[in-house]
Amino acid sequence: MNVAAILKLKGKGVFTASADTSLLETAKLLEQHGIGCIVIEGEEGKVVGIVSERDIVRAIGQSGPKVLKDPVSGYMTKTVVTAREADTIDRLMSEMTTHRFRHMPVVERGRLIGLVSIGDVVKMRIAEAEMEAAAMREYIATG
Ligand code: AMP
Repeated sequence: MNVAAILKLKGKGVFTASADTSLLETAKLLEQHGIGCIVIEGEEGKVVGIVSERDIVRAIGQSGPKVLKDPVSGYMTKTVVTAREADTIDRLMSEMTTHRFRHMPVVERGRLIGLVSIGDVVKMRIAEAEMEAAAMREYIATG
């Protein structure tokens, strides 16, 4: 199972914002869409950063609510680890565990084409395990 299979199931839509969006607007987007992170896009669909609920909480915790009017560019993570469609779920799990984050934008030919969260990965892993168990039961019953 790979990233392409996950995107086929969940779709390729990604919530994005530009680097000049305020932290408050970013927090509103997270709340409105029920998501945990926003990919920050530059020109021509290039990924220039990622901001998660953790970054917003950290900024408020460190400097107080006045940061909410600041542009997200000062608080986003700029070195974004991305995935490709051909990457396996095991690779994503390994990256997420190593770097301790829960989201990976999917990029092909320099353009953002999807986003995989740790929730998507776990869901796929459970589906795989259930399919294997069903195949095993079938094999035993008909064997
Ligand atoms: P998360 O666990 O995804 O909410 O993010 C935890 C921290 O990692 C935050 O500071 C994010 O900005 C950062 N982060 C999330 N996803 C990525 C990613 N794919 N590449 C680099 N940093 C990330």
